Amino acid sequence: MKILVATEKPFAKKAVDGIRGIVENAGYELALLEKYTDKSELLEAVADADALIVRSDKVTAEVIAAAKNLKIVVRAGAGYDNVDLAAASARGIVVMNTPGQNSNAVAELALAMMIYMSRNRFTPGTGSEIQGKTLGIHAYGNVGKLVGRKGKALGMNVVAYDPFIADEAVFEADGVKKVATVEELYKASDFLSLHIPATEQTKGSIGYDLLMSMPKGATLVNTARKEVIDEAGLVRALTEREDLKYITDIAAGNQAELDEKFGKRVFATAKKMGAETAEANINAGLAAASQIVDFLKNGNTRFQVNK
Ligand code: NAD
Repeated sequence: MKILVATEKPFAKKAVDGIRGIVENAGYELALLEKYTDKSELLEAVADADALIVRSDKVTAEVIAAAKNLKIVVRAGAGYDNVDLAAASARGIVVMNTPGQNSNAVAELALAMMIYMSRNRFTPGTGSEIQGKTLGIHAYGNVGKLVGRKGKALGMNVVAYDPFIADEAVFEADGVKKVATVEELYKASDFLSLHIPATEQTKGSIGYDLLMSMPKGATLVNTARKEVIDEAGLVRALTEREDLKYITDIAAGNQAELDEKFGKRVFATAKKMGAETAEANINAGLAAASQIVDFLKNGNTRFQVNK
């Protein structure tokens, strides 16, 4: 069995060494295609691959058609919109991601963003502390949970809303209070950390009414997706409430307008960087290799995204 790692932007050496160890210990062969500059190189490399590990690399229908032996593709990371799921499914190829491997990186960024905004974006002037403030977590998944636990450790009062987690014990175990409605969550939160996925239900769902209900001086922190924000509603709320702040890891469609109108009350990272840590990259690469071995040896499809 040949496992191909195809990465335009290569993994760190430590990750590649780890992936090799996992693959070779399982009795498989590792092939590497790094820093390729032309699609033809990928098409050639996948021709005899049984399994494929990629990062943001595009696995198109053409790539899948060229990979005659391919059984599984793993996107080392969370988002898998770079893989043509329909083309893979049509050939019975399993596609997986590696959820949870970058959660700590994103959670640390969310907390850092809260402190950055409460200390005037690290410019002179009197700031405020996050200890003792109420942190609202919108969606208690992999990232949300870690933000909640870290918030508790920093002395914050943490509340969370996630209608898909029925088991109260999940929240209680972290000392986090579960609230019943999204309205209740925003009304309570000095800092609101967004961790909902972008779905038909959530797109454009965070806007004027929720923002206006937040306490005085509140900050909305978005490390999720820009699509969940109603951008016109955000502008309106920031205009009417000069105490509100917004910080995001995913620049808004109207970020230039936000920067111009609201100055220091808004901030967007230059490029999405939530998952950009050495640790997250290594974790995702190792998880991808382990998932492939577990699939080929035991048929484990736990992280399959095209079921
Ligand atoms: P996850 O799948 O572990 O958790 C998502 C949670 O959202 C689940 O608990 C689910 O029950 C909940 N949820 C779904 N729909 C909801 C709704 N309508 N209302 C409330 N809760 C809802 O995902 P995760 O790994 O925690 O990632 C969360 C978000 O962060 C995703 O949008 C992801 O794309 C984003 N993310 C961003 C970066 C970055 O670099 N900034 C990196 C990784 C993930």
